[in-house]
Amino acid sequence: MELVEETPYRFRIDRHGDMRVPGVVFASHRLLPSAGDGALEQVVNVATLRGIVGASYAMPDMHWGYGFPIGGVAATDVARGGVVSPGGVGFDISCGVRLLAADLDRADFRRFGERIMDGLGRATPRGPGRGAVWQLPRAGLEHVLLEGSRYAVARGRGTQRDLERCEDGGALDNADPGQVSARAAARGLGQVGSLGSGNHFLEVQAVDEIYDRDVAETFGLHPDQVCVMIHCGSRGLGHQICTDHVRAMDATMADHSLTVPDRQLACAPVDSRAGRAYLGAMAAAANYARANRQVLGVAASDVLREITGHGLELVYDISHNMAKIEQHEVAGRQLTLCVHRKGATRALPPGHPDLPPSLRNAGQPVLIPGSMGTASYVLTGIPGGEAFFSTCHGAGRTQSRHQAVKSVDARALRRDLERGGILVRGSSARGLAEEAPTAYKDVDEVVAVAEGAGLCRRVARLVPLGVVKG
Ligand code: 5GP
Ligand code: MN
Ligand code: MN
Repeated sequence: MELVEETPYRFRIDRHGDMRVPGVVFASHRLLPSAGDGALEQVVNVATLRGIVGASYAMPDMHWGYGFPIGGVAATDVARGGVVSPGGVGFDISCGVRLLAADLDRADFRRFGERIMDGLGRATPRGPGRGAVWQLPRAGLEHVLLEGSRYAVARGRGTQRDLERCEDGGALDNADPGQVSARAAARGLGQVGSLGSGNHFLEVQAVDEIYDRDVAETFGLHPDQVCVMIHCGSRGLGHQICTDHVRAMDATMADHSLTVPDRQLACAPVDSRAGRAYLGAMAAAANYARANRQVLGVAASDVLREITGHGLELVYDISHNMAKIEQHEVAGRQLTLCVHRKGATRALPPGHPDLPPSLRNAGQPVLIPGSMGTASYVLTGIPGGEAFFSTCHGAGRTQSRHQAVKSVDARALRRDLERGGILVRGSSARGLAEEAPTAYKDVDEVVAVAEGAGLCRRVARLVPLGVVKG
């Protein structure tokens, strides 16, 4: 694979073969995926999709994924037959991060640490299919699919202010529960308010460094403050929707004369029956994921209030696995695009009309988890942000789960974390080993490269105090 180094943090893959646009990889030499990972080939494959505009982008945390790389961003022109591809969103539709801030500082946490972690451990259902915070009847699930976090708030789980601090006000309005299969709904019914497994977590963190005091204050963050970060998605429901619609699209590709270099890139024109069906189901799964994080956040807040007398205020909630219909200017023309962000986060700049009034001057909070033993970040968008206002979503894996389990001793890992002052409430030894910090890239470098490449700006750096692992 030939990479042309355009600037220190930007590499280009020139058009060749069936590529309709070039590839652009934001990375340092050290962060580029290793040969044999296959992620750069995936950037090239994505560049062949019908209607793609600009470039096939990859963020500094990129690594191999299903069809699209994780860390991939691709936008297609809806008016020109542009496609939507479930592989460009991923199986965990609207997987994302919610950050909440407490009116407590590090020293307060040390006084109550074990009790808080025990409480959070009990209040946070996790692991494959083991209960949920919110037991809903079938009719309630329908409301979740249509109204997302708004339904949770309407049922007393949260406040109106929470909705202002959720991307899209807590719900997408184009959800179509009619496109959600009975199987997907059945899988989702008992899981609203649950982390799921492995990479998903609830972490107590402290604000360790502030890079922009004014913006941090607007977001509700100050030095030494205790925060809770929640990372989870749409559980079995989103997974089943992805499975169902990949299969359905695969069967309609020929009708639209679509060919792709990899079957995992199954797609359909946005403006087609299969395309609309997927987007309607995807929006329903996104609403489910937001309600999931909403009720987990409220449960965590209740635990903190009970133990310390202080609850949690929402900083922001954002997805990193989504396709969105957005307006962007490309080469001087205003276009309606289907922007896929898979393991990538939208990063709206200050002044963007989609931001709520309280964030308009600061820009949109971007939430970047690192790993259970390292830092996490809060960033914000910048004017002229590249890749349709997108940036990274995490540190990104360097090792597969399988490799990590083989090379990490879970007991030693737990001991090292606890020695470092990080309280661990894990679900299984295997789950812990799979997510060892050594399985991930260096988040400090990923974020520095994202900033250096002109994708975002750092606002705050957080460090872990305790983690509840999925
Ligand atoms: P993904 O959505 O790709 O599964 O994960 C997003 C990111 O979460 C990963 O790239 C990794 O950097 C981060 N991550 C995984 N486990 C943990 C954890 O326990 N704590 C924190 N802070 N970050 C994590
Ligand atoms: Mn996920
Ligand atoms: Mn995720």
